[in-house]
Amino acid sequence: MDTIERKTLLNKSGLGFWCINAVQGCSHGCRYPCHAFMLARRYGRVRDLGDWCRPKLVSNALQLIDKELRRKRAVDCVHMSLTTDPFMFGQPEVASLSLQLIERINEAGIPCSILTKGTLPVELADAGRFDAKNTYGISLVSLDEPFRKRWEPGAAPYADRIAAVRALHDQGCRTLVHIEPYPTPNVIVQDIAAMLGQIAFVDHIFFSGWNYNSRVSDYAARDAFYAEQTLVVEEFCRERGIEFETIG
Ligand code: SF4
Repeated sequence: MDTIERKTLLNKSGLGFWCINAVQGCSHGCRYPCHAFMLARRYGRVRDLGDWCRPKLVSNALQLIDKELRRKRAVDCVHMSLTTDPFMFGQPEVASLSLQLIERINEAGIPCSILTKGTLPVELADAGRFDAKNTYGISLVSLDEPFRKRWEPGAAPYADRIAAVRALHDQGCRTLVHIEPYPTPNVIVQDIAAMLGQIAFVDHIFFSGWNYNSRVSDYAARDAFYAEQTLVVEEFCRERGIEFETIG
């Protein structure tokens, strides 16, 4: 895999939380579109989607994190990742680097929050190596594989994602599912209850709609649809004692 060097790794995002992105690009190649890809193209870091889908490891990531953890105070939690995926499907070098980074951050007494459209490695349940306060999450907006192949072509099959997060839950880890960007019925007709039924074991569910896509914004009943689906997810969580979160 190609590599790049960075000057910094641990940064506070515009959303107010600490995050690291130890890879440039992402082989998942999401077509929602991917906001990180659009920014990388605008600032000349990648030429096109093909370039974006050939990830480049940050070769000095471990040195940077060691240095920055010594210097930066008041880091309460580190999120992985905002502009790439820490457990990119079929990319063992990315997964290996991410595991080492989580381990170093946890050794400094700081928990991590992980979100992936890949498969979470079961090693993360090793309490001797990783902080029990870590949160392990998957993104999931459908159970329909043709939908995944259309919109998240390089990402892990939905069943594999769910099985991986379930394995961590079964070993006592804190887990979450991030349902965003949830599609409107003019993109795919689906019953959110079926998806919720597959993830009823998790500790936390985030739900939100789909931005950056004209097909969704053109859907006349968009606001009413999202208001209704939000209530369905909220009620599902309330009945099962699952933490619920949405925007606004
Ligand atoms: S998984 Fe995230 S970073 Fe990777 S292409 Fe999809 S939206 Fe972009």
